[in-house]
Amino acid sequence: MDVRNCRRCGRMFNYLGGPPICKVCKDIAEERFQVTKEYIRNHPKAPVQEITHECDVSANQIKQWVREERLEFSKDSPIGVECENCGATIRTGRFCKDCKEHMSDSLAKAVAKPEPAMAPKPKMKRKEHDAMHFARK
Ligand SMILES: [Zn+2]
Ligand SMILES: [Zn+2]
Repeated sequence: MDVRNCRRCGRMFNYLGGPPICKVCKDIAEERFQVTKEYIRNHPKAPVQEITHECDVSANQIKQWVREERLEFSKDSPIGVECENCGATIRTGRFCKDCKEHMSDSLAKAVAKPEPAMAPKPKMKRKEHDAMHFARK
């Protein structure tokens, strides 16, 4: 059994993996998330200050949910997070569409490109090298 202290409330709890948060705090966070999600859906143009006030969540928490792609803001919303690559304003996730495309592009290229040949040098080369070395003596 893995007993830890909850990161939020400090209570001891039986740790089962994931973030070190006890069941009570997890439930509260989940409830807040549902409330926040609902609020954003009903108030797509609400600024962050309004959401944090109405839903009793921190701006950082909202940002974290956005990064995890659990929350998504509409195009009309004044809220956005910065693309971690280029700083463009995005509505959900960690990267903007362009950077995402660019990344999957270069990833595809990296996969398609064969690894640089690691084959051992042909034996002839070695002999040549030895011969040259000998000649230089
Ligand atoms: Zn707790
Ligand atoms: Zn970007």
